[in-house]
Amino acid sequence: MTNQNQTGWNFDNSYARLPKSFFTSQNQNPVRSPNLIILNGLLAKSLGLNVEELQTVEGVEVLAGNRIPKGGCPIAQAYAGHQFGHFTMLGDGRALLLGEQITPQGDRYDIQLKGSGRTHYSRGGDGRAALGPMLREYIVSEAMDALGIPTTRSLAVVETGEKIARETYLPGAILTRVAASHIRVGTFQYVAKWGTVEELRILADYAIKRHYQEIENGENRYLSLLQEVINRQAALVAKWQLVGFIHGVMNTDNMTISGETIDYGPCAFMDTYDPETVFSSIDVQGRYAYGNQPYIAGWNLARFAETLLPLLHDDEKEAVEIAQDAISGYMNKYQKNWLEGMRAKLGIFNEEKEDAALVEELHNIMLKYRADYTNTFRGLTFDKMEDTPLYGTPEFTKWHELWQARLGRQDESKESSLELMRNTNPAVIPRNHRVEEALEAAVNEGDLSVIKKLLNVLSKPFEHSPEQEEYCKLPAPSNLPYRTFCGT
Ligand code: AMP
Ligand code: MG
Repeated sequence: MTNQNQTGWNFDNSYARLPKSFFTSQNQNPVRSPNLIILNGLLAKSLGLNVEELQTVEGVEVLAGNRIPKGGCPIAQAYAGHQFGHFTMLGDGRALLLGEQITPQGDRYDIQLKGSGRTHYSRGGDGRAALGPMLREYIVSEAMDALGIPTTRSLAVVETGEKIARETYLPGAILTRVAASHIRVGTFQYVAKWGTVEELRILADYAIKRHYQEIENGENRYLSLLQEVINRQAALVAKWQLVGFIHGVMNTDNMTISGETIDYGPCAFMDTYDPETVFSSIDVQGRYAYGNQPYIAGWNLARFAETLLPLLHDDEKEAVEIAQDAISGYMNKYQKNWLEGMRAKLGIFNEEKEDAALVEELHNIMLKYRADYTNTFRGLTFDKMEDTPLYGTPEFTKWHELWQARLGRQDESKESSLELMRNTNPAVIPRNHRVEEALEAAVNEGDLSVIKKLLNVLSKPFEHSPEQEEYCKLPAPSNLPYRTFCGT
């Protein structure tokens, strides 16, 4: 007997009951000697899982893909996507959906193993993942969650005891990813391209049931689905911009229907404010630069709208008009979310027409003086601008006066303004040099203390405590730009 029941796995497999062309069943690809590196206790508990049982040999075998827990039904999901603008067939080439965990509260979450071995969709890849990038996803996704940004979560990272071949041999690992679902824009693209209209309807109805139950009985639920996805993505990308998060690979297969951030590959947080910031080594054109993210999200949503055309109206011309109408509303929605967030970052409660211009001017000054994005807002929050390059410049002095005057034109007290700012402007973000330092200690020296300390600090980004002080510091100046890598 196993401990599966004690562990609390409580699977349903609704996706595996969808048409067979949506996925392939997948046997496990056992790894040599699984070793649990990190486990997210709070997340485990919220999923109804027993933290002690998860750490037993059997518990870890599940997280390594060596043992299928009772009720699990491992599948690899099919999807397509536009990668850097080019349409292609993709699918889970190195991931396995174990099943959908039904929590004690009755919520449903996909439990997916990433790095679990080859599947039907692996093409030339080995289906594996390296320890560094899986720990990186763990750190950044958990930091995003703590920042209040919708995201897939990370339950655990298990080392496989096997080496994988990249530029050099690296320790292999498997990340357990937890998601509202793994339905992507690319999932719709796959079914729209190679499935029947009936299958498309089944997928759309499934997505609605899973994420947008409130629209299920509405008049044109497929139009509502499009609008709701637009709403969530407009809100999501605005949140990214507000904290300086750069996703790095906003291909349509990396955009969820649920509105969660997914696929932490070459992502990174911006230090110095610059809309042209790009970290990903393969993004040579800057397609996914910080300042482009809102537009790319719009482009991806247009691809999503295209997939829905047969469901929007029987007449194709009318369907196109309906879709275009919905898509044309995206930018305004994004702007509204972003400006609302920016007002909060500046302690502003009410609305004035000139607010956008005030915000824009601050960005212009940050750009001119190469100021750190996070620390500028933190400096404003604590009225401690001395450490920033804006301090004492004529532009900033003038802007500061305008801002103070603006704060005077609302009923809320100065103290409420500062509180709003403290709760909106993080003290700590996963700064690249800190993340690298933690990964190096974990991967090269087997020392997990650095990563655990970092995770602890990142779990309370708005605490503004003295222990966080050192995590606010910028990296030492370097001649080499920070670079991140994809699919590693
Ligand atoms: P990503 O860059 O993680 O969004 O992945 C893009 C596509 O490449 C997806 O279909 C992945 O499943 C696939 N892929 C990435 N890495 C591997 C790998 N090591 N082996 C097989 N497929 C992979
Ligand atoms: Mg992907």
